[in-house]
Amino acid sequence: MEVIRARVLGYCMGVRRAVEMTARVSGGGAPAPVPDLRLASREGPCAGKIYTLGPLIHNPQVLAKLKSRGVEVLDETRLPGDLRGAVVIVRAHGVSPVLEAEVSLRGGRVVDATCPKVKASQNLARSLGRAGYRLFLGGEKQHGEIIGIRAYAGDCIVVASPEEAAEAAADLYRETAGKRPAVIKTALLGQTTLSPGEYRAIGEAIRPFFPDLRVEDTICEATRDRQEALMELCGQVDALIVAGGRASANTRRLLSMAQALGKPAWLVESAGDIPREIAACSVVGLSAGASTPDDVIDEIEGALLAMDR
Ligand code: SF4
Repeated sequence: MEVIRARVLGYCMGVRRAVEMTARVSGGGAPAPVPDLRLASREGPCAGKIYTLGPLIHNPQVLAKLKSRGVEVLDETRLPGDLRGAVVIVRAHGVSPVLEAEVSLRGGRVVDATCPKVKASQNLARSLGRAGYRLFLGGEKQHGEIIGIRAYAGDCIVVASPEEAAEAAADLYRETAGKRPAVIKTALLGQTTLSPGEYRAIGEAIRPFFPDLRVEDTICEATRDRQEALMELCGQVDALIVAGGRASANTRRLLSMAQALGKPAWLVESAGDIPREIAACSVVGLSAGASTPDDVIDEIEGALLAMDR
């Protein structure tokens, strides 16, 4: 069997940064340079309890490793009353500013591992909201990134699909018709992991109601790069393995893209999940979501190659 890796796969910058920041705080060392050197002094190993606000990333192996180092996951809806002496790490998806303030009020030290790109979306949402824009936010309502950005925006309308966008835009149009100012300012921001096509379709669904809609480019190229690499790979292989956590939205999206292109494809969390029938394929493609660590990808590739022997 030949295994071809996607040109781009695995950890994106934001996830790698969050994992490395957490490793430093929990005394696990950092294999790569710190992207933001100003943070280094605040990230030294912590003697007290270490928490992440929700799961740091959607990957079971990484979460298990962090747990073994004593890093606990806090339920964002039920913070402990006393966090004195504890470090609380904000994950790459970011959280609402209210939650961060709550942690500080209870005595916790916040280490902000929010991806700089998500931070940029949060800041944009806040400044557009302050400038009087009605915001549409494209993405999954329950996703941590959307919950966080929404809190920065104040009032905004979350839409998960072009159909929902058209419906919400029609409602807003009816609600504002005849009111002053006659033309309301609208803007669209998207979850960083949306596909460019989906995001465009959401914008097109709103535009008939609000032709001056301001569309911000918030889609992260890390997602785009992995999706484009996967599409290229699909043309060269008989079947495809997407390595990553089942809870990872961008990993599941890679899987559904491969399936939509007509390729037999499986989402595999670890080597033990590889389906037996793939042994019949001559050329297998290997892709991985943005929260999949290098060692898991290597292990899965090794197991695929070992199926030949
Ligand atoms: S996918 Fe992009 S926005 Fe999301 S964490 Fe990774 S680098 Fe940041």
